[in-house]
Amino acid sequence: MALHESSSSFFSPWPDRLRHSAIVLLAAGLALSVLVALDELSLIRAFAVFLCIAAAALVPWRLHDVATSREDTRSVNPVETGAVAAVVAGMPDPAVLLDRAGRVIHLNAAAAQLAPALRKNELAQFALRSPEIITALREAIATTEPRRASYLDHVPVDRWMELVITPVPVPTLFGGTDKCMLMTFHDLTPLRRVEEMRADFVANASHELRTPLAALSGFIDTLQGPARDDPRARERFLGIMHTQATRMARLIDDLLSLSRVELSAHVRPDTCVDLIPIIRQVADGLEALAHERQVVIEIQLPEMPVMIAGDREELLRLFENLIENALKYGASGGRVIVSLKEAASGEGAPEIRVMVRDFGPGIAPEHLPRLTERFYRVDVGDSRAQGGTGLGLSLVKHILNRHRGRLLIESVPKNGATFTACFPQVKVAAAA
Ligand code: ADP
Repeated sequence: MALHESSSSFFSPWPDRLRHSAIVLLAAGLALSVLVALDELSLIRAFAVFLCIAAAALVPWRLHDVATSREDTRSVNPVETGAVAAVVAGMPDPAVLLDRAGRVIHLNAAAAQLAPALRKNELAQFALRSPEIITALREAIATTEPRRASYLDHVPVDRWMELVITPVPVPTLFGGTDKCMLMTFHDLTPLRRVEEMRADFVANASHELRTPLAALSGFIDTLQGPARDDPRARERFLGIMHTQATRMARLIDDLLSLSRVELSAHVRPDTCVDLIPIIRQVADGLEALAHERQVVIEIQLPEMPVMIAGDREELLRLFENLIENALKYGASGGRVIVSLKEAASGEGAPEIRVMVRDFGPGIAPEHLPRLTERFYRVDVGDSRAQGGTGLGLSLVKHILNRHRGRLLIESVPKNGATFTACFPQVKVAAAA
């Protein structure tokens, strides 16, 4: 575009076609004058030759004038070349090519879907609803400068869209170029959602950290002030401070684990591990908690090794979260069953399923789809009282995603809950 605009300042205000004709005539005139001056050509002949050249140079230009002055010029657009149409049609985003007046020359299928009122050879301004688009379009046409605008489209669903209008020199059928406007639309909704999620996450994490921190600094003030000489109060407060500090440490631990698993989400674990000793190790480690909550853990696992492609540390974390939740929230049922079976996934692929079943109060169906969201809890007070962070099931889901597995949650209120971790089965040769 810079090249196009920096061409001769004498000719630059002239349209391309006229400029070319003028250059041809000037050159022919000069050459013929030289021949006449050298007596190589008679004046009459030179004049006749000049007339022929002038006719050849000006006829296409005149023909184009005739075409554009006709009533039906709108169907004879000079930039309607197959190549330009193919480029616009092939663009992945909605794209519309407009002429200098803002009339639609080409549009692709995505643009027709986005703005069904857009019609070829009609002014785009009349077919677009959003005032932001119309303003940007008017400005771009008036200034022939690029313009951007973002707006919220409500139909058929709410979507954040960005419009970019770029002036482009397009080759015409008559040689030269026409300055057209390429209008492209980009869907910014996924980007906005990620931004919102990030902001929510930071707000939630700060809130979760601030609560124990506020308790800690409150007790420090009390210990330095009114309770300074009260050994019994000091003992009690130190106990509470210890619990709050443990909660903060757990929250930071869970946040770090979550970000670590997310970072390696695309790298599938490539070592083969036996699930049985991992599950047994977790159950043994939680025996003290089970005893405290008066819950019996029943382990129903096969004797044979059950191999999957997995990360041992992450699997320990996964089963710890599931069994600990069952002990904490399903304690009233008095028992938790951990079992394993082979099954087929929805697509028929063989998989290993590890089920953690409790007989507690269960979970109401409306909560089930949201349980794996970060910081989501059915009862925030209950979760905090149990030392929960609201990140456990989110971590479980991410670990399973990394293992190309999935989490199934089934629950009948008043009749307990079953959390099932499904892993793809490794082929026998790979396991060996
Ligand atoms: P938390 O740290 O709060 O335990 P999780 O992500 O592990 O966070 O669990 C989210 C919520 O799911 C818990 O707060 C609890 O309300 C509910 N929940 C998880 N497991 C069970 C279960 N076995 N029975 C009933 N509710 C459960």
